Amino acid sequence: MLRSCGVFSGKWISSLKIIPNHAPCAVFQTAAAHKEDPCLEVHYPEAHEQAPRLPFQELQFNDAQQAFQAKSTGKLIQSLAVFRACSLKPLVENADTIIRASRRVAAPLVDSIVKATMFRHFCGGECVESIQPTLKYLEENGIRPILNYAAEDDVSAEPEEATSCPHAAAERCLDRNTAIFMRSIRDSDNFGNRAFVAIKVTALAPPKLLEKMSELLTQHGDLSDRGFCSARLAEAMLPHLDEQEQASFHGVLRRLDTLADALIAKGNSRVLVDAEHTYFQPAIDALTIRLQQRCNRQEPVVLNTYQCYLKDAAARIETDMQRAAAEGWKFGAKTVRGAYMVVERARAAEKGYESPIWDSLQETHDNYNRCAARVLEAVAEGSAELMVASHNQETVALATRRMHELGLQPSSSGVYFGQLLGMADHLSFTLGRAGYRIHKIVPYGPVHETLQYLIRRAQENSSIMSATGKEREMIQAELIRRLRESLSLNRLFKAPGAMQQPSASAAA
Ligand SMILES: Cc1cc2nc3c(=O)[nH]c(=O)nc-3n(C[C@H](O)[C@H](O)[C@H](O)COP(=O)(O)OP(=O)(O)OC[C@H]3O[C@@H](n4cnc5c(N)ncnc54)[C@H](O)[C@@H]3O)c2cc1C
Repeated sequence: MLRSCGVFSGKWISSLKIIPNHAPCAVFQTAAAHKEDPCLEVHYPEAHEQAPRLPFQELQFNDAQQAFQAKSTGKLIQSLAVFRACSLKPLVENADTIIRASRRVAAPLVDSIVKATMFRHFCGGECVESIQPTLKYLEENGIRPILNYAAEDDVSAEPEEATSCPHAAAERCLDRNTAIFMRSIRDSDNFGNRAFVAIKVTALAPPKLLEKMSELLTQHGDLSDRGFCSARLAEAMLPHLDEQEQASFHGVLRRLDTLADALIAKGNSRVLVDAEHTYFQPAIDALTIRLQQRCNRQEPVVLNTYQCYLKDAAARIETDMQRAAAEGWKFGAKTVRGAYMVVERARAAEKGYESPIWDSLQETHDNYNRCAARVLEAVAEGSAELMVASHNQETVALATRRMHELGLQPSSSGVYFGQLLGMADHLSFTLGRAGYRIHKIVPYGPVHETLQYLIRRAQENSSIMSATGKEREMIQAELIRRLRESLSLNRLFKAPGAMQQPSASAAA
């Protein structure tokens, strides 16, 4: 079960007292954190002071019948089966090894088993055409899609494959991914204004290069000058790269420029750049900021992702917001808790450095809510947009409440909620019905290329601390309710004289 976030019993802090030379920072958090954080001495104006104060309608996320009314019984049973499989710890913990080993022996068989189970639940299909029924179903329920081509690569995961691939072939593969992202951007036209596309930098750049760039950025840049300026990125990187790496580096910039040109030409789309492993993240940040500097002049077209399980997330948000303000572009953020905890902790232990992840889940919860609160304030001031990407009910409820306090309208402010396909439907459908801007990530791609994505979903859902436990209970309750209802209907129709009832009343 979820532990309650300490912050939820507390209040969002929001009155104004600016401290010189200190960026304004509004947070809501535990008393302990309050003492340590100097930002808490700064208070914000109540953005809602001018707005008419209507009573806040708390959303009813716990009503299983309401939440799942759009889901067939078959779909509910499928969801329950997948969540149950995810709770089999030994299977999930070794899923990566099991799948790799069994694919070496019988790849087509493994892929078809995965396709019929995990893939069917968590992915929309193998290509843009095959995801159309899923998109239609979501649209009918007030939920908009985030198209996400889920192919990904990792240096540590498959060293032979990542390095044996000749340079030219690898570059072709990355160009192919770029074409797919371009197509997603084009296809997002069908989903109206501010349609979202999610991209992964590891699908556009060789992981080895990102790792090297990250090392260089960490060595040469400090937090306040993270990622360098776009103009200085090449100047800073190139002297440290060999000939092939330089060619790859230029390839990455070319791909990102292609995406930027398409986004600028369209003007109304939004791109979410995924956060990945910390050993790629400085490079991903630098490249994303470069994209934002070009695309976010009028609106926050590109949103970077901040993993709040990282101890430095709040500081990075603050730095990037200050950079956006100083350079004259709009800040856009997606806040997540983070999906690479197992790998991050194992790597830190193996290499002997301090884990970048908060030691306890409660600290992650507090940090998430602190970061989201900070960006929500900026949204209310008109300088940012935020996607609250979470399946945590308390986080979502708290964000809706704070939006109300800040006078941010559910359907027209720059606040979006994001959830993954196959997860937290009780939140998504309730938010959709209440008119909030709710988006579901719809991953797609060939089954074998989505395996890393599916393994992460399984790991995430295996945790007893995750929101899935709650969703599972609600699905069970709804299935039992439907069963009872159909049994009592059966009894009604089978009862002696039940069929005579209409004619009796007609006679009356
Ligand atoms: C729309 C969307 C986009 C996303 N994009 C990204 C992305 O770009 N990059 C990315 O990394 N992830 C991404 N994710 C996944 C996300 O990071 C989380 O893995 C997932 O959403 C679960 O977190 P939650 O906020 O839903 O909350 P919960 O369900 O409350 O999450 C709790 C989970 O947090 C984990 N956890 C985090 N910190 C700790 C800790 N210190 N100790 C113990 N457990 C901890 C545990 O596994 C626990 O199960 C995305 C998720 C969504 C919904």
